[in-house]
Amino acid sequence: MLEIKKLNVSQFESLFSTEESCLKFISEQKWSEGFICKKCGHTNFCKGKTAFSRRCTRCKSEESATANTIFHRCHIHITEALRMVYMVCHDPGISSYELSRQLDKRQMTCWKLKSKLIECIEKKGEIDLLYKE
Ligand SMILES: [Zn+2]
Repeated sequence: MLEIKKLNVSQFESLFSTEESCLKFISEQKWSEGFICKKCGHTNFCKGKTAFSRRCTRCKSEESATANTIFHRCHIHITEALRMVYMVCHDPGISSYELSRQLDKRQMTCWKLKSKLIECIEKKGEIDLLYKE
């Protein structure tokens, strides 16, 4: 996640403005050391049904780019979730009310993802996309 922290706002916005660019980035981070099927351990894959998902060629189980990442079961759009990561990276003290105001999302939704991000920073020293509670 250090790459994101180094960007300024306009660089961030131009790189991560679309769902596709966000999912591509997440899938590259997640499978940076290659694909390993969560179910059977196989390492060959083909394209899955959704953007940047991967499907195991042996057991056919499919994993989306965001499954088993910090965005797992996150109910906001991925571009907004990544934007929140960016904002929290730069200002870990930002309140969920401020995030809510800037992203135009419910405060409780922002609070949930922010808590996860802060927990990750506390445990690992930085935001790790692959962090799981
Ligand atoms: Zn498999």
